[in-house]
Amino acid sequence: MVRIMSSLDYALKINELVKKHTEWFRDSLPMIASENLISPMAMQLLISDLHNRYAEGLPGKRYYQGNIYVDEIEEITTELAKKLFRVDYADVRPISGTNANQAVLFALTKPGDVITGPPLQGGAHISSAKFGSVGMRGVTKIEYPFDVEEMNLDIDLTAKLIKMVKPKVALFGRSVFLFPAPIKELQDALQEAGAKVWYDGAHVLGLIAGGQFQDPLREGAHVMTGSTHKTLPGPQRGIILANPPGDEEKREKFWNKIQRGVFPGVISNHHLHHMAALAITLAEHIEFGKKYAEQIVRNAQTLAQELYEYGFKVLGEKNGFTKSHTILVDTVAQGGGRRVAEDLEKANIICNYNLLPYDDPKKPRNPSGIRLGVQELTRLGMKEGEMKYVAELIKRVAMDKEDPAKVREDVKEFKKEFNTIHYCFNEDEEAYRFIELVK
Ligand SMILES: *Cc1c(COP(=O)(O)O)cnc(C)c1O
Repeated sequence: MVRIMSSLDYALKINELVKKHTEWFRDSLPMIASENLISPMAMQLLISDLHNRYAEGLPGKRYYQGNIYVDEIEEITTELAKKLFRVDYADVRPISGTNANQAVLFALTKPGDVITGPPLQGGAHISSAKFGSVGMRGVTKIEYPFDVEEMNLDIDLTAKLIKMVKPKVALFGRSVFLFPAPIKELQDALQEAGAKVWYDGAHVLGLIAGGQFQDPLREGAHVMTGSTHKTLPGPQRGIILANPPGDEEKREKFWNKIQRGVFPGVISNHHLHHMAALAITLAEHIEFGKKYAEQIVRNAQTLAQELYEYGFKVLGEKNGFTKSHTILVDTVAQGGGRRVAEDLEKANIICNYNLLPYDDPKKPRNPSGIRLGVQELTRLGMKEGEMKYVAELIKRVAMDKEDPAKVREDVKEFKKEFNTIHYCFNEDEEAYRFIELVK
């Protein structure tokens, strides 16, 4: 018999589901490489009145009244972004990384243009695919050759390709991002082609800000986009930073185009509560970002080494597995990426199955690998010692085929010690908070 639920029942049901979700993550090891925990101080602002308001355009040039304080918040957020990334130009309005990418595409390309970028199996994001934002702009992306040994672009072949294609825009940066993009090494080719250099730092933004990984805007990138909630542990949002070439006038012209790409290009209101939360995140990262980023990379390298010693096929061996927060493991010998990711989920270890460079991109549902990120576990205070235990838990599920329900009990027990947030102003507050709103 179908039970008819009242509207209030549905509302209460949603409340209950959110609570269950929160408790599940509290009891789990969240290892999705694109996720993180926002700090308590930043989280607080997400439920402020700012959520209810509108602002369009830039401070002092709005289309709505009521923005007196919003203008000041936006100016401070922008200044903090410039300070953290040491640049003259920052736009904090994009509401996601994809949205920031769309703004750059809108600003720097026209339909019919050709750009170059990393291949999908090499970890490119869907926003740069022909069935994503790039395709939607009517732009064609030609893919760089990828070197599986290096787990990076093939530098010689990529240089040749760039010189031959002469792309309007050369895009770098990936969603499976183990090693820095070789933009320094490709400088000659990029200059010869006269390409605008765009770095998508969605995944590694927090590492870059913390002085780890690479420094794209000083290595030849003209503009960098990113999500503010991956290794930069802020609200779900986007950002654009730039270091345009040329004299003052040229730089201003470039930046104007980018800002018009944002508004009126791809957003109207820019979700002001998230902007205020981003300001807190930026301020916290200026204080704690270096330490946090260093620990993330140490943790990722430790986890990769441990898994490798257990006999897992961890990619990027030649270069020490990873220089970021991410690890990529070929799990064909353990039953494939899908099987392993699903078993791990039953043990409360949350990660995703992932295409490997040698997989058929037309079969994204049954790829050979899993992707693991350590940025959230690091945020919870885990260090190298804990990574060794995490590797053991993964091995018990994926390799020993132990009953995931049994491993789950050990995960829960272990996690009890690691549910407060670090590297932020109010350290040691509960990380997975659920505020009972419906009485
Ligand atoms: C995650 C990601 C994005 C998009 O980010 P959203 O904030 O989810 O829209 C863009 N580019 C790359 C390389 C990413 O990994």
